[in-house]
Amino acid sequence: MVIAKARAVDGPDKPFREAEIKRRDLDSHDVLIEIKYAGICHSDIHTAYGEWGPVDYPLVPGHEIAGIVTAVGPHVTKYKVGDRVGVGCMVDSCGECENCRKGEEQYCLEGNIQTYAGVDKYGEPTQGGYSTHIVVQENFVLSIPDSIELDAAAPLLCAGITTYSPLNHWGAGPGKKVAVIGMGGLGHMAVQIAHAMGAEVTVLSRTLNKKEDGLQLGASHYYATSDLETFEKLAGSFDLIINTVSAKIDLDAYLGLLTLDGALVNVGAPAEPLAVNVFSLIGHRRSFAGSLIGGIRETQEMLDFCAEHNLAPMIEVISADQIDEAYERVLASDVKYRFVIDTSTI
Ligand code: NAP
Ligand code: ZN
Repeated sequence: MVIAKARAVDGPDKPFREAEIKRRDLDSHDVLIEIKYAGICHSDIHTAYGEWGPVDYPLVPGHEIAGIVTAVGPHVTKYKVGDRVGVGCMVDSCGECENCRKGEEQYCLEGNIQTYAGVDKYGEPTQGGYSTHIVVQENFVLSIPDSIELDAAAPLLCAGITTYSPLNHWGAGPGKKVAVIGMGGLGHMAVQIAHAMGAEVTVLSRTLNKKEDGLQLGASHYYATSDLETFEKLAGSFDLIINTVSAKIDLDAYLGLLTLDGALVNVGAPAEPLAVNVFSLIGHRRSFAGSLIGGIRETQEMLDFCAEHNLAPMIEVISADQIDEAYERVLASDVKYRFVIDTSTI
């Protein structure tokens, strides 16, 4: 057993504090990872603040994990000591259901085991990446390509795959017009990935404050949604819209921007329900859909795609003492575009 240092939170309105957590002894297919960097995803905040429902505290969030393998179980074949690896939002699944067999473990019919705020197959609560070590079974460990620095790799394990998967599934590519709502952690990855896939990308942000970055990352157009003319001008324009917004938005206004057969895919996960007027859908045979992270095989494909196309998140590396402040800044959309914790400071 390894005692890992961690940062934990004890309740929705409590600050992060130093903690020690137990990481299990290596089972035959387990890998021990020394975590080097952990990204701060808005989902960490929704969870830590109890917005998605009751949480068992203390909670150690973190599902954008990058580190180095320091030990392997006796039957591990995929990784060896010294490998550069990542872990995302899930650490296990049943492996046998129809969805797992398709490589869509995130949709495991038994429920995937989340990296934190879950219960592992040994009945123990899972704790995430704001810590120095983690034990994960090898099938849920990703290989980080050499050309991607570990600090920049971390956010790809959630922000990268969560945007890559729907862009891939809904066929973003040459000849397709894709809009991204929200230029945050997920949004700024969606822009880069959609552009690299060959789509024409438009950012729909509340203001034009981040326009320069959006264009530099590959968007061809950038509009402020606070300007109502935007919705008139862009009506019926997009084949695909990826909504990354963490709060409630006026979906009908955005659905009006889709072409015939266009799809608006929600990856943003606000706690409150989003209302849809069905006439926004039936008029032009539009779809409103959702998407959850991506499977393990697709996550590896995404990492390799990012390496091949030189894509990486723009990050701000922080120390563990800055987590509370970072949460406040994410809530104020004051981050360009992902905070990443240097776990050596834990
Ligand atoms: P983030 O960095 O905070 O980005 C969210 C962006 O949404 C902000 O940068 C902002 O963009 C926009 N926004 C925020 N509040 C808004 C409001 N009240 N009205 C309109 N726009 C607003 O968050 P993130 O880490 O990218 O995560 C985004 C959402 O995706 C979260 O809800 C998270 O839980 C969810 N998520 C889902 C999955 C999944 O598997 N489906 C995975 C990861 C995360 P502008 O400043 O450009 O307007
Ligand atoms: Zn996430």
